[in-house]
Amino acid sequence: MHKEKFSGCLVGQALGDALGFNVEGYKPDLAQKYVTGIMQAGKAAQFGRKPYDFGQYTDDTQLARELAISLIEKGGFDPTHYATRIAILFEKKAAISPPEATAQAAQRLLDGVPWEKSGSPPPAADSGSAMRAAPIGLFYHGDRTRELVNAAYEQSRITHQDGRCSAGATVVAGAVSIVLTGESLEPRRFVDQLAEWAMSHSMTFAEGIQRLPTWLEMPPTQAGPSISEFGLRAEEIADPWEGIPLFVVSGVLWALYSFLKNPDDYWQTIATALSAGGNADTTAAMAGAISGAYNGLGGIPKDLTAHLTDQGQWGYPQLVALGEKLHEKATA
Ligand SMILES: [Mg+2]
Repeated sequence: MHKEKFSGCLVGQALGDALGFNVEGYKPDLAQKYVTGIMQAGKAAQFGRKPYDFGQYTDDTQLARELAISLIEKGGFDPTHYATRIAILFEKKAAISPPEATAQAAQRLLDGVPWEKSGSPPPAADSGSAMRAAPIGLFYHGDRTRELVNAAYEQSRITHQDGRCSAGATVVAGAVSIVLTGESLEPRRFVDQLAEWAMSHSMTFAEGIQRLPTWLEMPPTQAGPSISEFGLRAEEIADPWEGIPLFVVSGVLWALYSFLKNPDDYWQTIATALSAGGNADTTAAMAGAISGAYNGLGGIPKDLTAHLTDQGQWGYPQLVALGEKLHEKATA
């Protein structure tokens, strides 16, 4: 278990998030133009999202970073401690582009509501608690499955009470823990294990994961709209397709598709995630965390990670050091 993979997970998430921020909310055709005209043309570092220069990442990575810090400080997952760190980020108005459910839960925490009750109730089911869950997979890797499942659930509940959000957080953390082993990926086993974890929170989510091998036979332009509809009621489906929705089931499925389509290629994983537009910062953050944990820091383009920042702080060297510290604590 190399610490290079821990740092790769955090940096991989941050870079996916920063690239995705540029097309967050974009329709697929525009997002695809960004991928081919800017990202794959080697111009990514030249374009940020106003008022930020390229490299600013968003709430996805900010909250994952806070979770990693909390795991290190407490030597494990402590919901009260992490809930406080979430609340402080929002109190300082430092969260970049957060979903409504998380912002509302953070406000309840700031109003004194305990973490067990602060989460936004169903049917609010965006990707807000899945997008930050990767550090749980790093910390509770190996045979610490029960702790992983419990911590993923509790960290999700702080902001999201819907079972589909619990499933999404468990799947993202679980995926990271599986790819950390360093063994070459066996997609069928990977999918079966993730579906099993999802099932205890949401049957629909588990069914979606089991359907991934079928989607993987399709090109992204066909799989994207199909995954975007999955698990939604007819009246909730955008027609025409507007990209990957905020909904946690489609978001996590799209991140897994993007990774499984190009497991050995971080850059192509992110390009695939972004090509569908919509909730792109989040899908690329989750796909980037999993790919970064699988391929390690060496698989992530250095010329771009050098630009990573959170409003002047927490850039590349700090994120790498955070991954190393998390590795030290998790393997102590
Ligand atoms: Mg975001």
